[in-house]
Amino acid sequence: MRRVSRLVRVGDVALGGGSPVVVQTMTNTDTRDVRATVEQIRALVRAGAELVRVAVPDLAAAQAIREIKKEVTVPLVADIHYDHRLALAALEAGADKLRLNPGNLRDPQKIREVARAAKEKNVPIRVGVNAGSLDPRFLGKGKEVTPEALVRAALWEIELLEREGFRDIVVSLKAHDVPLTVEANRLLAREGDWPIHLGITEPGPELEGIVKSAVGIGILLAEGIGDTVRVSLPGDPVREVEVAWEILKSLGLRKRGPTFVVCPTCGRTGIDIPRIAAEVKRKLSALEKPLTIAIMGCPVNGLGEAERADFAILGGKGFGTIYAHGEVLLPKVPEERLVEELVRVVLEGVKAHA
Ligand code: SF4
Repeated sequence: MRRVSRLVRVGDVALGGGSPVVVQTMTNTDTRDVRATVEQIRALVRAGAELVRVAVPDLAAAQAIREIKKEVTVPLVADIHYDHRLALAALEAGADKLRLNPGNLRDPQKIREVARAAKEKNVPIRVGVNAGSLDPRFLGKGKEVTPEALVRAALWEIELLEREGFRDIVVSLKAHDVPLTVEANRLLAREGDWPIHLGITEPGPELEGIVKSAVGIGILLAEGIGDTVRVSLPGDPVREVEVAWEILKSLGLRKRGPTFVVCPTCGRTGIDIPRIAAEVKRKLSALEKPLTIAIMGCPVNGLGEAERADFAILGGKGFGTIYAHGEVLLPKVPEERLVEELVRVVLEGVKAHA
């Protein structure tokens, strides 16, 4: 069962309050380069991003939000560190949400000022605590970062905001360490009903990053904790969005585009499953309609999977049979034509049901 959290609106996107878990990401362009940032945001939206955060390291970046917003419809989150004036400028420029880091923006007076300005504009604030920039006041006895320390840091800023009558609060507690992040979020979830933004921060190069994100975010989501997800990976943030969707799809929390069932290959495999699966995925990755596509090497598990999938290839020696909705559609298609035939069948099927 999902944890009950309060509803917070970010532009036209609902966080918490029983809404579907939202996929978000962050651009890695220079925000002042409006053209490059807009282009990246559009690619992220095509991949399924529902909220996009941009870095606001200076005033020019805050002001660029106004121009970026003219070109995109997805709500924009301004990522603020150190200087509360950047938060005020981002609000002026039309940011739909602020992320404040209580580790480096610590003056209560300045935080109150931001809260008042955000309240006036109905803009929510994420209290974003990171282990790497934790305020030393909250460190544990041995100066180590503990789950309790991360929670204390968040509660300090939450209290400040709530005393100001500000309630549109989202919270995140992130570390690169999975057990630390998981435990901190479990503790936080018991402290209040703020929507929780999940992520493992700085989790490593791509493979390590994907595994740690899937494990950490997956554990919490499976326990019903989490209202929005950001996967952090170095490189093109489109990958972050793809991984976030796969995590949500694998837990049955969201549906989007094809779900692939692919045989792991063994001594019985008689067609090039990895190549076929990769090509089919590449050609169908833009589909948004939820579908199950099975690509199987032989009848052992393939028959059952092919019959249950929306579309399937059931492999033989150098050929495959194409299934649609549990029925044989094209028997004994030569291996070299399997990708093209399956893709055609899927696209025709999707069009017919559009
Ligand atoms: S489906 Fe067949 S070919 Fe694929 S792993 Fe299973 S037994 Fe092997």
